[in-house]
Amino acid sequence: MRISNSIYLAASGDMGFGLTDGADCNVYLIDCGRTKVLIDAGVGIDSSRILREMENDGLSYRDISHILLTHHHADHAGGAAFFKELLGCTIIAPAQEAESIEEANELVLGLDMARRAGYYPQDYSFRACRVDHPVRPCDSFIIGNIRFIVYDGSGHSMGGVCYYAEVDGYKSLFAGDLISHGGLISLQNIPGADLHNYARSVEALENLEVERLFPGHGCFSLSNGYSHIDKVIKAFKSLGIPRNAI
Ligand SMILES: [Zn+2]
Repeated sequence: MRISNSIYLAASGDMGFGLTDGADCNVYLIDCGRTKVLIDAGVGIDSSRILREMENDGLSYRDISHILLTHHHADHAGGAAFFKELLGCTIIAPAQEAESIEEANELVLGLDMARRAGYYPQDYSFRACRVDHPVRPCDSFIIGNIRFIVYDGSGHSMGGVCYYAEVDGYKSLFAGDLISHGGLISLQNIPGADLHNYARSVEALENLEVERLFPGHGCFSLSNGYSHIDKVIKAFKSLGIPRNAI
């Protein structure tokens, strides 16, 4: 589904637009000129449906050179192995979570708990995937005609990240599960979740003046992205806990 000149929604599950498998997060495809990038990879249950979605949009998925994972949760990173095998693309992921992605460590991923809670089918398992480039907050890199800057996204998960980039002339934040539309957070009872880290990660986004916000689930925003972020910051600054999506 085309969102803007250079951004497409390639996957989105039950907590979003119902384009692809129910457990998929929002997967964004960015056209970076000579090459294409995916933000997150979906759950990996029916990844060929994501390929079909791209083809329906007239996109050649063979041009995808990189996948930027926001964090190691299965609905975001479980599909990375499929794309890497098919396309040989470079996997960029948070350094703190590279090991759990490479080892498919279900306890660290919180997958055993999430499966018990009904978020994934009982027979689902996470496919391990090699991480080519671990990234840390403040890192930046260029793919095609776009420079990406890494921001801390820890708090929702152990060491997740967000990716900031100017796309189509707009300051855009690919926020993973750190912030959702409407100023919701996603603080879950799973390993790696941490309220103080959460607040620190969100407060670091305060002066970014984000125009377009692309969350890992649900609706995205093509203007005033900062207003969703500011709601969360305001709640944390008053020592409260922002509204939780869970
Ligand atoms: Zn998550």
